[in-house]
Amino acid sequence: MPKRVYIETFGCQMNEVDSARMISLLESADYRQANSIAEADLVLLNTCSIREKADQKIRSALGELRRWKSGRKGRLVAVGGCLAQQQGARLAEKAPHVDIVFGTHNIARLPDLVRRAENAIPSMEIDFSGDTSHWDAPPYIPSGASSAMVTIMQGCDNFCAYCIVPYVRGREISRPSGEILDEVRSLADRGVSEVILLGQNVNSYGRKEGEITFPALLRRIARVPGIPRIRFVTSHPRDLDRETIDLFGDMEALCPHIHLPVQSGSDRILAAMGRGYTRKDYLEKISALRRGRPGMAFSSDFIVGFPGETESDFEETLSVMEEVRYDSAFSFKFSPRPGTRAASFAGAVPTEAAGSRLRRLQSLQDEHTRERLAACIGREMDVLVEGPSARDASQLCGRTSCHKFVNFYPEKTRTGSLRTVAIRSAGAHTLSGAEGAPRG
Ligand code: SF4
Repeated sequence: MPKRVYIETFGCQMNEVDSARMISLLESADYRQANSIAEADLVLLNTCSIREKADQKIRSALGELRRWKSGRKGRLVAVGGCLAQQQGARLAEKAPHVDIVFGTHNIARLPDLVRRAENAIPSMEIDFSGDTSHWDAPPYIPSGASSAMVTIMQGCDNFCAYCIVPYVRGREISRPSGEILDEVRSLADRGVSEVILLGQNVNSYGRKEGEITFPALLRRIARVPGIPRIRFVTSHPRDLDRETIDLFGDMEALCPHIHLPVQSGSDRILAAMGRGYTRKDYLEKISALRRGRPGMAFSSDFIVGFPGETESDFEETLSVMEEVRYDSAFSFKFSPRPGTRAASFAGAVPTEAAGSRLRRLQSLQDEHTRERLAACIGREMDVLVEGPSARDASQLCGRTSCHKFVNFYPEKTRTGSLRTVAIRSAGAHTLSGAEGAPRG
């Protein structure tokens, strides 16, 4: 009887795909995925340290796992990911019920570490070895999945002033293009229609290694039969080049949506953040993308209350939003991460002012999201089905090529993962519709 592992993933898509790889790797130690903590023999937290809130959630999860572990002999707890990388020694000291602590460069070692833990030998492996052998393990994907994430690189060399990623993921390493293409081909063979290429800064793919460029990689992936949709995340606005921008106009398979994190609309704050572009540079790239692919959708990340941000800096951020009218956005209050440059910057913005700016920004974004969704009503859109709708079992749920969620009534006779849906209404965050002619 195989044992069961339950993985709780915090943070970004890089962590999600690493968790999917951990499931594959653990098969060699005779573990299969559990659907709940209750049925697990091993619970693994794949952690994030990008914001203080994620950090607190993980500490509270560890408290609960202390009780879970004492409920039956032989239960194991492992902690991996960015927080483990950054604070491994402290974690092991503060949470002695944790059997395994492993860093972002030690994922391939997981099966061995689990076998040791089964023999009551705790482990802590958090060295920055540059080991990427875990890329050899194909990420677990559920059968029938229509979309899959493919890692193309890891780490980052940018050292933006607020960001912990280069310290916990290490320097940028690109994966050989041959391996990426093999993974994409095998996903196509399994019926996957959409690949999402993942990296902290995909636009600098291959530069250090002398690999093919990112646009060349996109062209090769587009030639793999059976992959009608390609996406990528995350793009750095400074590194998004003309060739990649032009591909949005030339390459049908490249979905008309880009996540392009601006972070702030003020040049003074962008310089303090060390982002390497100005508001003007950013807006020019947005315009070029719109010209190349009319109807293109945009999403972004924002940080409000960065040290030294004045009301007028913040208003410049709002004005970028008004100009771009993003389809969606992630926005956060600045949270100083120990070890980053910005953690020691003067000019802290009072919590109340930062909170009020965040509320204003989010309310403006809600308005724009509603407006962008409403513009879809009456159109027929191709939707990639992800599964049954969570809110109504008679409906399916999927995403448009411009990355909008749609719940829709399917035609009973139709099958396949790509469906044409007539959009009938729009809510605050999703669209609704029906396959075939619009109803009602
Ligand atoms: S580009 Fe900047 S924000 Fe993005 S991961 Fe690298 S350091 Fe962090």
